[in-house]
Amino acid sequence: MKMTDLVNTNQVQKPCNNESETIDLLTSTQLIIKEAVQNLGYNDEVYELLKEPLRTITVRIPVRMDDGSIKIFTGYRSQHNDAVGPTKGGVRFHPEVNEAEVKALSIWMSLKCGIANLPYGGGKGGIICDPRNMSFRELERLSRGYVRAISQIVGPTKDIPAPDVYTNSQIMAWMMDEYSRLREFDSPGFITGKPLVLGGSQGRETATARGVTICIEEAVKKKNIELQGARIVIQGFGNAGSFLAKFMHDAGAKVIGISDAHGALYDPEGLDIDYLLDRRDSYGTVTTLFTNVITNQELLEKECDILVPAAISNQITAQNAGRIKAAIVVEAANGPTTLEATKILDERGVLLVPDILASTGGVTVSYFEWVQNNQGYYWSEDEVAEKLRNVMVTSFEEIYQTSQTRHVDMRLAAYMVGIRKPAEASRYRGWI
Ligand code: GLU
Repeated sequence: MKMTDLVNTNQVQKPCNNESETIDLLTSTQLIIKEAVQNLGYNDEVYELLKEPLRTITVRIPVRMDDGSIKIFTGYRSQHNDAVGPTKGGVRFHPEVNEAEVKALSIWMSLKCGIANLPYGGGKGGIICDPRNMSFRELERLSRGYVRAISQIVGPTKDIPAPDVYTNSQIMAWMMDEYSRLREFDSPGFITGKPLVLGGSQGRETATARGVTICIEEAVKKKNIELQGARIVIQGFGNAGSFLAKFMHDAGAKVIGISDAHGALYDPEGLDIDYLLDRRDSYGTVTTLFTNVITNQELLEKECDILVPAAISNQITAQNAGRIKAAIVVEAANGPTTLEATKILDERGVLLVPDILASTGGVTVSYFEWVQNNQGYYWSEDEVAEKLRNVMVTSFEEIYQTSQTRHVDMRLAAYMVGIRKPAEASRYRGWI
């Protein structure tokens, strides 16, 4: 079996050329944290503590490759703040992983956990590698090597990893097994996103798309748009994008555009989603089967009611934000809209549901998985779905109300809601 049959199919595309090249994810995150901290009336010490992770380690992982050679991989684990509880967040395998990005993503995990009111702080990990060019066994050795390298600082009550870009339940299973061997007891709560037979949760695989779906349902109510018949464009056909296309299609919305790393398909009459899902490969590629393909950038500017960037960062920028025609933008990817573009969309009256709210479904069901592991009693898919709905609806409403009453855009409102828990927990602990 090749790993391409199994990997998590979050889409990865080259970012377009824009202002994000001069301002990285960590810097833009810090800018909004500063504004959120000031708006909440917290002092500078709160900002100084929360603008960077408490700890980030770099590890070098020697792996024996199938040809007998040894390759040394570089990986990171960043733990933003553990005042609320253990840190939590995914591990990505990608050639463009870098320390600043992992740090920023760990801060976002703190914000997501704060928004969803989960008893965690934020963590994130990554390994610089291209899993698409590695064999199944090489990936197993790399996954186990990473766990050995970070084992001192992780654990079910310290820091709990999970899937992220190009990692999946098989990789979680190897990591859990390696950790259990090191600790000499079975430790399902060490990691989430596991296969069901190893203590995974019902509904974890579709959790991100479910969360995005619930945000869309709430957003259309605010904009007085009927979901039935609403025109939706989804950029990215990976884990989030593909399940979302299915859920939207089943809800009676018209999915008129989708894309993958190679291009986009657009049909104002609606695409045949079941056919596309059937033909997509495990990396979410499907557009290569068609000749009438447009670019990802063209797709973003198409006439529609709801636009869901579900691919990678920096897709909606100061250059194209003025041409986005959607009434609602729901960010299923991490960081698809730059800060300048956020302002432009807000001024134009577009309702933007930010990433740290829209993509919170994944970590929320990860939390449910960890709770089930700790209690040794497992819930049905319906129970998980209902609990997820409660969390998402409450989070959406709190952020929407904050944005209305404080006259701030939804992204800043989400930061304000998300930062409160780590800030207050740090203060109670006497750290600031
Ligand atoms: N990687 C996902 C995220 O960025 C999930 C994290 C988790 O389940 O802990 O939210």
